[in-house]
Amino acid sequence: MIDDFEAKGKRKKLVEELRQKGITDEEVLRAINIVPRHIFMDPAFLIHAYVDKAFPISSGQTISQPYTVAVQTSLLQVKMRDKILEIGTGSGYQAAILAEMGARVFTIERFRELYLRAQQTLSSLGYSADFFYGDGHAGQPKYGPFDGIIITAAIKEVPDALLKQLKIGGRLVVPLGDNSTQVMTLVLREGEENFKYSSHGYFVFVPMLKGTVNDN
Ligand code: SAH
Repeated sequence: MIDDFEAKGKRKKLVEELRQKGITDEEVLRAINIVPRHIFMDPAFLIHAYVDKAFPISSGQTISQPYTVAVQTSLLQVKMRDKILEIGTGSGYQAAILAEMGARVFTIERFRELYLRAQQTLSSLGYSADFFYGDGHAGQPKYGPFDGIIITAAIKEVPDALLKQLKIGGRLVVPLGDNSTQVMTLVLREGEENFKYSSHGYFVFVPMLKGTVNDN
């Protein structure tokens, strides 16, 4: 599946739609305009690749809605060479957006099938990232601390291990709540023990679960 004129046109329209929905970060919009979302989609949903909705991928998971990716990425305020940890690789689309913005991406997935597939997808597009098959609750202490941490699955509260891996001055973005709905939350680490929380709207994610699944 290659990128073509039609897909490019659809992405441009998607970017306009995201602007209308309130996304203003030009770097985020630029990345969404460049990364070919259709390459990350299940073939059954290809024609919907540039519809602003979440869609099923393998292992019963979803590729996030572009608006959701845009909100989370905007809240992270990614700068060139920032070290960003993502929990929930899924399709790899969010990781590719971060890589396109110049971040050094570390991403963890608990389904082996998705972990393998996302690596292939990103490398076929020429993006590099460090992929890990594991349970994201523990983070990746060996590679931290991180400038930013993005959790792309729903959880009730942020695991201490992840808060500890955030640099002072760093930003963590997470949908906090139960399985039905979550509040997008930005956590700023202002000091060793000082974390400031703010809320940024309601979203629905698949849950963050314990352990790994070797489905490949
Ligand atoms: N960022 C993804 C969206 C993925 S949906 C994308 O751009 O496509 C959430 C993902 O989080 C799922 O793939 C799910 O398997 C994964 N996940 C859930 N709990 C996890 C955990 N404890 N550790 C790592 N990944 C987890």
